[in-house]
Amino acid sequence: MSAENVIELDQPTKALGASLQNIKRAFSGNPAPTAAERIDRLNRLHNGLLDYKDRFIEALNEDFAGRSSAETLMAEIVPILEGIRYNKKHLRSWMKPSKRGKPPYLMGSSVKVHYQPLGVVGIVVPWNFPVFLGLSPLSGALAAGNLAMLKTSEFAPRTGEVMKEMIASNFADDEILVVTGGVDVATEFTKLPFDHLVFTGSTNVGRIVMRAAAENLTPVTLELGGKSPAIIHESYPMDEAAKRIAFGKGMNAGQVCISPDYVMAPSDKVDVFAEEFAKAISSSYPTLKDNPDYTAIISDNQRQRLVDNVKDAESKGAEVTVVDPAGEDFENTRKLPMHIVRNVSDNMRIMQEEIFGPILPIIAYDKVEEAVAYVNGRDRPLALYYFDNNPSRAEKVLSQTHSGGACINDVMSHVAVDDMPFGGVGPSGMGHYHGKEGFLTFSNQRGVVHKGKLNAGAMIGPPWANRIFESFIAFQFRRFKKIE
Ligand code: NAD
Repeated sequence: MSAENVIELDQPTKALGASLQNIKRAFSGNPAPTAAERIDRLNRLHNGLLDYKDRFIEALNEDFAGRSSAETLMAEIVPILEGIRYNKKHLRSWMKPSKRGKPPYLMGSSVKVHYQPLGVVGIVVPWNFPVFLGLSPLSGALAAGNLAMLKTSEFAPRTGEVMKEMIASNFADDEILVVTGGVDVATEFTKLPFDHLVFTGSTNVGRIVMRAAAENLTPVTLELGGKSPAIIHESYPMDEAAKRIAFGKGMNAGQVCISPDYVMAPSDKVDVFAEEFAKAISSSYPTLKDNPDYTAIISDNQRQRLVDNVKDAESKGAEVTVVDPAGEDFENTRKLPMHIVRNVSDNMRIMQEEIFGPILPIIAYDKVEEAVAYVNGRDRPLALYYFDNNPSRAEKVLSQTHSGGACINDVMSHVAVDDMPFGGVGPSGMGHYHGKEGFLTFSNQRGVVHKGKLNAGAMIGPPWANRIFESFIAFQFRRFKKIE
C-alpha cells in the first residue's frame, strides 16, 4: 500500500462524514431523479468505463503482479457494461408505482407501492474484482436513483486510484465519491450513516461491518464468501465436469468468491476426475510463470497463506498433485500453480477456511445423499454446483440444500445473468443485487394509500355502538370462519 493511497485524516470520521453530508445535501436537492437523469448517470458510468478500460487493465495487472487482461475484460469490464445496459432498459418500468389490492373499507381509494431512492449508498469493495464489485452495485444504486460513496480495497491500490480518477472525471464530488485507504479508513467509512451499505468481502469482516452499520440502523447488503462445493454424480462424464470446473477454478487463479472451493466425486472416480482436471488446466495454461493468461496471487501474504495451507494438508496426510505443465520455478513470483489435493480430512485448514486460490481438494463420497449431508453439515455456501444430466435428481439436490446461487452442470455462470438476483444466504451473505431485486434493494418500497373524495371509512367510527359497524363486523366474521 503506497502512502498516497491512504487518506491522512486527523479526524477521519469527521472528514468522511463531511463528504457524506455533502452528497446527502445534493440528494435532498433532487430526491426523485427522473428516469432520464438516472440514465444520464448510467451513461456517464458507461462512457467512463470505456475511456478508462485500458487504464483499469494496466492497474489490475500491476496490483496482481500479473492479471490476465482477458479476465479483466470478461469478468470486470464487459459484465458492468451489460449490467448498465440491463438497468437502463428496465428502470422506467421498475420505477412505475405498482397497483395493489385493497380492503373493502378503502373502496374508492388507490393503493400503490412507490419505489423511492433511499439516498446515499455506501459501497465497500474487495480486491479480487475491484472494478466489477465496485461498479456493479453502483450501477444498481444509480438505476434506483441514489447517489453513492465507494471505498476501494487497500490491496488493489492502483486500481483504486484509477477508479477515483474515472469517477471524478465523470461525476461531481457530491454525486459519487471514491475513497481510497486502508482498514482505518474502511472502519470509519462503515461507521457513516449511509442510507444503505453494500459490503463485499470476507464473512469475518462482514460481521464487523454489520455491527458498525447497526449503530446507525443502516440497512446492509452483505456479499460474503464461503466454501462453494461442486458435487459430481457418478453418471456424469468426468472429463466434461473437469473441463467446466477447471474453467471456473482457473479464473483469477481461484481468487473468486463463487469459485468451486472443493469437489465431491464418487469414490471410484476421484482419480479419473483429478487426471481430467489436471489435463484441462494444463491445456488452458500450458505454462504459468510468464503466461499472461494465468493470474498471479494478489499479495505475498496471500500466496504464503495458500502455500502454508497446502503444507498443513500434506502434514495431515493429504496427497497433493501440483499442475505445473512446463516444470517451472515459481520462486520470487506471485504465481502459484494449481494444486489438486486428495485424501483430505476436516482437520485440514483447506477444509475449514475458504480457499480463495488455486487449490482444489477432492472429497470422495459413495452416495449423493452423503455429499448432500456433508454440505448441509457446514455453513450455507455462496454457490452450489451439481453435475448430473438427470433433471429430477438435480432438482432433489437443489431442494435439499441451501446456497446463495447455484448452477447445474456448470460453475459461476449465474453471476453473469443480470436478470437474476445475486447474493448469499446465512454466513455467505444477506440481501441481493443484480436484476429487479437489486433495484428493490436500493429503493424504499413505500406503500401509499390515496383516498379519493369518497370516504367509505367515515361510515365506520365512534361512537362504535352503531348498526353499520355491527354489520361490518358481522360481515368480517362471516369471511373469517374457523377453518375445519
Ligand atoms: P476483506 O473482508 O478483507 O476486505 C473487504 C473490504 O473491507 C476492503 O475494502 C477492506 O478495506 C474493508 N475492510 C477491512 N477490514 C475492515 C473493517 N474492520 N471494517 C470495515 N471494513 C473493513 O475481503 P477481501 O480479502 O478484500 O476479499 C476476499 C473476500 O471477499 C472473500 O471471502 C470472498 O469470498 C469475498 N467476496 C465475496 C463476493 C460476493 O459477491 N459475495 C465477491 C468477492 C469477494
